[in-house]
Amino acid sequence: MKVLVINAGSSSLKYQLIDMTSEDVIAKGNCERIGIGGLITHKLADGTTIQEEADFPTHTEAFVKLVELLTTGDKAVVTDLSEIAAVGHRIVQGGKYFSESVLATDEVIDRIESISDLAPLHNPAHVQAIRACQKVFPAGTPQVVVFDTAFHQTMPPKAYMYGLPYEYYEKYQVRKYGFHGTSHRFVTARLAELIGGVEGKKVVTCHLGNGSSIAAVDNGKCVDTTMGFTPLDGLVMGTRSGAVDPSVILYIMKHENLTPDEMSNILNKQSGFLGMSGVTSDSRDLIKASEEGSERSQETIDKFRYQIRKYIGSYAAAMGGLDAVVFTGGIGENSDELRHDVCTNMEVLGIHFDDAKNVELNRHEGKISKDDSKVQVWIIPTNEELLIARDTKHIVEGMK
Ligand code: ADP
Repeated sequence: MKVLVINAGSSSLKYQLIDMTSEDVIAKGNCERIGIGGLITHKLADGTTIQEEADFPTHTEAFVKLVELLTTGDKAVVTDLSEIAAVGHRIVQGGKYFSESVLATDEVIDRIESISDLAPLHNPAHVQAIRACQKVFPAGTPQVVVFDTAFHQTMPPKAYMYGLPYEYYEKYQVRKYGFHGTSHRFVTARLAELIGGVEGKKVVTCHLGNGSSIAAVDNGKCVDTTMGFTPLDGLVMGTRSGAVDPSVILYIMKHENLTPDEMSNILNKQSGFLGMSGVTSDSRDLIKASEEGSERSQETIDKFRYQIRKYIGSYAAAMGGLDAVVFTGGIGENSDELRHDVCTNMEVLGIHFDDAKNVELNRHEGKISKDDSKVQVWIIPTNEELLIARDTKHIVEGMK
C-alpha cells in the first residue's frame, strides 16, 4: 500500500509518498509560492531532485503538478493514481472535537473549517488542500486527517484552563490545546518499544526545532504541554516569543500604538532567537554567533536551555516522578551541547547523564544516560509523516 502524506500551509504544500510495506519514502517534495507564483521541488529515493517553476493559483494546480511528477515521465514512481491507496493530511488545530485521527468525511471537513478562527493561518489551508485533493484524485480515494492537537486532548482541566473569566472559554473556546502532538506521540510510541512499554511510566518529551514544545506524558497519555491556545506559548523559539507576562504585550501595544495584527506579527515572526539575539532564528547560526562574541546570542542560548530545564523539573513535580526524558526535533536530535547543558547537574531529578554517549550517538536513536541512571534519557528522531501514514493505513484498513 502506498500513502501520500500532505502538510499544507497557506502558500505551500509539502508531500511524501510512503510505501507502507517497507515504510520507505518513495518520493517527497514541496510546492511553494501557491497563490503568488509557483515552484515545485521533487525528490526521489535515488537522490534525483527535480525543480520546476510552475503556476499555482490555488492548491488544486499544485496537486495536479505533483501528481504529474509522480505518474509521468521516466522518473515516474507510480503508473496509475489508483496505486495510491489513501491520502493523509496533517491538521494543526482539531479544537476539542478530535482526540484521534479520522476519515475526512464532509462533516469532518466542515468541522475543521468551523474552527478556523483558532488557527487562521493553518486550518483554511488544510481544508483547501483536502478539497483540491478530492478534485484531483480518483473519486472515493480515502483521505484521513491527523491532528497536531489530538495527543494533548487527554490533558485535565487543571492543565488546560487559563485563569481568565470562564465566559471566554465558553464563548471562544479559549483554553490550552497544545501542538506538535504527532511528534510527541511518535516518540512516546517509539520509547515504549525501546524500553518495554510506558505503562505506569512518567515521561517528558522535548520536541526542539524551529518551533519547540515539551510534553508531560504519564502512563502514555499527555497530561500537560508547553504550547497553549496557539503554538506561541512556552519555550522561546526561532521567531516566536514563547511565554511572556501578558501585561508586557499590552504595555508594548499601548506605547508603540500597535494593532493586534501588528503585535501578533512581532510575537510570532520577530521574537524568539531572532528578536533576542538580533542575529538569527536558526539555532546553529546562533551558536556560531555566540562563539564569535555575540553576547546577546549567548544569552538567547542560555535562556532556551534554562527554560527546558525548568519545564522538565516542573513536569517531574507535576507528575510526581520521572522515568524518562526524550529529545527530538532538529535541535533535540542534533545538538549534543544543548542536551549536555540541559541534563548536567540534574542528579536531583535522578538523571545521570552520559556525556560520551551523548556525543557518540548525536543525530541517532539511542540512550544517553548512564546505565545506573534512575531516569533514562533518549534521543529519538521524530517522523511525523510516518505516523500520519500509519494512521491513514490503519483507518483505511478498518474500512474494509
Ligand atoms: P521545524 O520545526 O521547522 O521542523 P527542525 O525540527 O528541522 O525545524 O529544526 C530546525 C532547527 O534545528 C534549526 O534551528 C537548526 O539550526 C537546528 N539544528 C540542526 N542541526 C543542529 C545542530 N547540530 N546544533 C544545533 N541546532 C541544530
